[in-house]
Amino acid sequence: MNKQVIPVKVGTEEYQLQQTRLQQQLGDGTTRCHLCLWRCKLKHGQRGFCQAHVNRHGTLYNLSYGIISAIDIGAIEDKPVKHYQPGTKVMSVGSYGCSFRCDGCHNLDISWGVSALDDLAKGESTSAYASAQMLVDTALRAGVQGIAFTYSEPAVWLEYVIDVSRLAREQGLYMVYVSNSFVTDEALELMAPYVDVLCSDIKSMEDSFYYDICKLATVESVLASIKKAHQLGMHVETRTNIIPGKNDDVEGYRQIAQWIYDNLGAESPWHITRFFPAYKLSHIPMTPAEMLWQAHDIAREVGLKNVYVYDDKGCDCAEENMPVSAYLNGSEEDLHQVKKCSASCCGDDGVLLKKYEQESD
Ligand code: SF4
Ligand code: SF4
Repeated sequence: MNKQVIPVKVGTEEYQLQQTRLQQQLGDGTTRCHLCLWRCKLKHGQRGFCQAHVNRHGTLYNLSYGIISAIDIGAIEDKPVKHYQPGTKVMSVGSYGCSFRCDGCHNLDISWGVSALDDLAKGESTSAYASAQMLVDTALRAGVQGIAFTYSEPAVWLEYVIDVSRLAREQGLYMVYVSNSFVTDEALELMAPYVDVLCSDIKSMEDSFYYDICKLATVESVLASIKKAHQLGMHVETRTNIIPGKNDDVEGYRQIAQWIYDNLGAESPWHITRFFPAYKLSHIPMTPAEMLWQAHDIAREVGLKNVYVYDDKGCDCAEENMPVSAYLNGSEEDLHQVKKCSASCCGDDGVLLKKYEQESD
């Protein structure tokens, strides 16, 4: 089978389209992807909802394999994951593409990354590429203990997640998967031997909330996916970003806490984070502290023992960033380059690279 080779600027190894791991040939050149619950049915030339998988003559390929949109080094607690190897550092990486379209997404450029994925599809990409080995080498040079797949939805580049995880595990690194949990059982079973931690959103207990960001998502499907990951042996922690007027009802907090208690256990951590205005929800103010603490108190009443509130400023304010490629090819010093918050507002001083890459020279 011919693979299209698309040269990119970075690294010595060449980017190649990789066959989608969970695909079903339907006999007439149509192929179904089973990585996430969209289960897109695609004809030649069509791309999935995430834009990261394309049907070429009856075979599905992952366009984003090895394409890195962002890298950051920080504490595992920032993922947020607090009950797995606390005190250790992780290298967070993301690509392009997501199975949801959240109105308040802070990662638009990379989660919806349509132009980056368009360029890849046309063979005109100049995005940073790292082979699985190159990414693991970068993590080892940085001296981290784990790698987290985040920023974009990891299910939509699962081929790369698994290849990196397999190599990284051999080097003693742990793997974190930060997800919206709109993921198939088959994908979870495929990744379970390689992924140590799932940090998943529970965005709401209302189907209407999920419908607004993904026409096929339901509360039941998301919760079933989280439960499946737990049953498969992953360490699971959950997070809810409370958005005023959207998912801030008291009964909703209670239902989420009760579900965690019943299905993941009283000790299972629940992270309650503050919403910050973004994109279509720019008119909504950031979540008041009282709202976050109200959710906390209800969860404690329900019986959850580990409930964490993130009453922070949450800024994403590094003044400028180097291109991703500079870090992939850089020295240990580069990897630990300090990027001070330009406004001195968040005290962030260990940032390798924030979410948005600036133009390179
Ligand atoms: S990963 Fe999900 S959205 Fe993307 S092509 Fe596959 S089923 Fe569709
Ligand atoms: S699931 Fe996360 S990354 Fe995807 S669109 Fe929603 S907020 Fe953005």
